[in-house]
Amino acid sequence: MNKPKRVFLLGASGMGMAPLAFYLRGAGVEVEAFDDYFREPLRTQMQDAGIKVLMEPVPIQTPDCVIRSSAIGTTDSRLSSFRSKSIEIFKRGDFLAKYSNQFKTVAIVGSHGKTTSAGMLSWALSEIDFNFSYLVGGRFKNDFLPMGKFQDSPWMVLEVDESDGTIDGFAPDITVVLNCDWDHVDRYKHKGSVSDVFKNLLSRTRSGVILSHSSSLLPWVKKSKRLKVSTFELEDDSADYMASNRDASIACATMMGADVDQVNFKKFPGMERRQSTLFEDANRLILEDYAHHPTEIRAFLADRRKKFPDRWMKVVFQSHRYSRTKAFAESFAEELSVADELNFLPTYGAFENYDAEGDAEALSGYLPPRLRATTKIFADYPSFMKDKIGTEDKSISDQILFLGAGNIEGWAHAFAAIHHRKGDRVSAFSYFLKDRLSHKCVLRKDESLASKTTMRVGGTALWYAEPKHTEDLRSLVEASNYYSIPRVMLGRGSNLIIPDEGYDGLVLRLRGEFWKEISPRSDDSFIVGAGARLNDICKLACQQELVGFEFLEGIPGTLGGALRMNAGAMGWEIYDLVEWVSFLLPDGSIREIPGNQLNIGYRFCQEAKDGIALRAKLKAEGRSDHKAIRSAIEELAQKRRSSQPREASAGCIFKNPEEKSAGWLIENCGMKGERVGSAVVSSVHANFIVNEGGATAEDVISLMQKVRRRVNDETKITLEPEVGLLGKKWKDQLS
Ligand code: FAD
Repeated sequence: MNKPKRVFLLGASGMGMAPLAFYLRGAGVEVEAFDDYFREPLRTQMQDAGIKVLMEPVPIQTPDCVIRSSAIGTTDSRLSSFRSKSIEIFKRGDFLAKYSNQFKTVAIVGSHGKTTSAGMLSWALSEIDFNFSYLVGGRFKNDFLPMGKFQDSPWMVLEVDESDGTIDGFAPDITVVLNCDWDHVDRYKHKGSVSDVFKNLLSRTRSGVILSHSSSLLPWVKKSKRLKVSTFELEDDSADYMASNRDASIACATMMGADVDQVNFKKFPGMERRQSTLFEDANRLILEDYAHHPTEIRAFLADRRKKFPDRWMKVVFQSHRYSRTKAFAESFAEELSVADELNFLPTYGAFENYDAEGDAEALSGYLPPRLRATTKIFADYPSFMKDKIGTEDKSISDQILFLGAGNIEGWAHAFAAIHHRKGDRVSAFSYFLKDRLSHKCVLRKDESLASKTTMRVGGTALWYAEPKHTEDLRSLVEASNYYSIPRVMLGRGSNLIIPDEGYDGLVLRLRGEFWKEISPRSDDSFIVGAGARLNDICKLACQQELVGFEFLEGIPGTLGGALRMNAGAMGWEIYDLVEWVSFLLPDGSIREIPGNQLNIGYRFCQEAKDGIALRAKLKAEGRSDHKAIRSAIEELAQKRRSSQPREASAGCIFKNPEEKSAGWLIENCGMKGERVGSAVVSSVHANFIVNEGGATAEDVISLMQKVRRRVNDETKITLEPEVGLLGKKWKDQLS
């Protein structure tokens, strides 16, 4: 297979795809990459390496081929446009198998330890400046080396995964079989099937094989006499699995002709999520490990017991996939039973549907009575924190081990951050986030908010953030969930009153190029970021001769605020234009919802209240001449200028009741010019309260009370606020 010139990677942030992206870019290929979820620092690292990280699954240039992650199915709708253009689509493993067959490939396979061993071998060869390329399915600790690297060399070291069936396409020069246990039961239906797959790989291997002394494949390999064979000791004591990984790596390097005798393997930085110490003091050790198979759990826990026999061992376990949990429930329970205390998180399903027989509850049923009675199952992180922090027995030193391959990593790091910050939840929040946000993301404490609103009143936010892209936003939302820090969105602040006492939580504001983008489409529509100004959308629509956006002129907000408020004017509402809105939901998922399925009402949208509006597709009513649109806009602007005050305000304060407009009612109660401090009922429009300079939120709220009472006394109509009160409910403020 020839090297492609341009590729598009779909699902590019996974631990299989990301190394491939780095490798291909290094090899001079133009790489465009998309994923629904890129984490930092990976996104920045990719950009720094010259990979184009896209915000939509649509490459800028037509690629020679598309490579999809094995998590993306063949029927995924994002692939159809490539298929219609006859662009070849590869599953990641299939591409790599075809591509690597032209090299002297070293395939590292096994049910456990392949990331560590591939990492160890790549690190050792790098230490002696051996010329080779590599792809490892995990991050080196502290990003000591990249996950994938190209060098102009015949040698290519690969971690080859057996889970998705693509292993059948590889024909390596050297194969390292670390071990062979039954796993991935959705694909491999019986115990011997994994071993059959490895055997087939060995029959395609060209020159050499490295196996453990005790491997069941060894007699078969020896009999064939075709391959050079080297063996390593698979330690009987499962606690010494790192020694086995090292011996296998050394044997492989030697077979490649590399002399790693002088390499000090004690300096191996290790791989992320593998035996990683997250916190350590005299009383407590917190570690995380990727172990998610009974054999791995046995080895890891044996190692911990051996190293710290006197520490009380607390295990927090998240099983990975219902199918695996169900198939190995008895073995999981047996291996986990060496713990002194057990805590379960709900099973991480990956792409599987919920199956009660594979959930944490079912798994706990297999535990011995001693543990069954005490094991706790936590549905969410705050309840875990509440149970664990402040309730610990300080006289016992312990080790807390977070095990699993799902999203337990976030729990482990959030828990460790609380320890690093001596139990201070507020500073743990920023400690947890320090490596998870992009460099340009703003995160500040005690930020003044008044100047970020049009009314210009109010206090500070405990935390204030300007995420630079969706990943930043998602990390901030995740952290606020972990630490039970309430959060709220701030747009242009043109419909908000900030209380004088500020907001005791996280204020999120979508500022910057990413959120402001207004991207014209060929079907007379725009895809618009939630941070775009309504005025800018109106201006661009006019330039493009698109009709329907004129009413946005003069509404001083952002699209996000307008979607939340269903902003409108002159008989139009924003949802008249909306084809779909994409939201970040509280659980971290992103959903694109068609406009006609949204729950909207007068100055209200339920989905934007529950989630965060990220972007929307706005479609024009039709086309017209630029000059005609311009003059319609000018007419509306003129009306605004003559009917609305110029001073600082938050727009209309009260919603219009059915009977009459709020402005008419207030004016007819003789309240124009009424004031509390520097907050005044506008003499231009009675439904505006203006800040003449120096008003407080309390002034504004007291004036609202006064107006409401008078209107109610005189007309029996109760005015309801249209303007929002950040972090508070009006019903608690207005009697
Ligand atoms: P903000 O005031 O910052 O926030 C409003 C609400 O939206 C808050 O609850 C906030 O949490 C939420 N929010 C913000 N961003 C998001 C997001 N991305 N996802 C989910 N929720 C989010 N309004 C009209 O409808 N018609 C008018 O004609 C009009 N004229 C006005 C004239 C003046 C002079 C002023 C000061 C205001 C006027 N307004 C008008 C009110 C205001 O401009 C609109 O409601 C506007 O849409 C608010 O947008 P914003 O970005 O300022 O939102």
